[in-house]
This record gives sequence, structure tokens and C-alpha cells, in this order.
Amino acid sequence: MEITWEDGHHSTYSGEQLRWACPCAECRGEAGAPGRLAKINRLSPEELLIKDVTLVGQYALQIAFESGHATGIYTFRYLMSLPPRPPEV
Ligand SMILES: [Zn+2]
Repeated sequence: MEITWEDGHHSTYSGEQLRWACPCAECRGEAGAPGRLAKINRLSPEELLIKDVTLVGQYALQIAFESGHATGIYTFRYLMSLPPRPPEV
């Protein structure tokens, strides 16, 4: 997924990076309980494939993955804070 920011610079995000960065309560945990991503170290290929991206208001993107997981709301501020895409392994 590629974003062009208002200042003209580009950011590229892989599905894998975004999936691991999913900010939803299920993945991140809530109320001090660890989320799903804290308990696993592998995700299946379909979980890493972006299926759909929806603009939420003016501030965020909702990203749906092939696995059906679509509860993550990625604010632009959050996306900007993610590290640059790591090299393919
Ligand atoms: Zn999630």
C-alpha cells in the first residue's frame, strides 16, 4: 500500500507490516491484557494480504485483510509513525 502525504513524500507499507501493526484491541490487547499479536510469531499468508482499504473520516484508514480481519483503524498519525518499510526478507 502506498500513501502520498500532503507534503508530497511517499510511504510504502507492506501488508505484512500493516498486519503486525494492527492497532485494534484484539491484536494489541486492552485493559492490560496482551493481545493476539503478543502471543504468536507467525501469521498465515492470507492474514497478510490487504483486501480492501477504506477511508475513515479525514483521519484514518480501515484496512481489511483477506482473512476477514478488518477491525484495525490506522490513523494517519499512526501510519506516519511506523518505521519505513523494512527490506524484504
Ligand atoms: Zn487487529
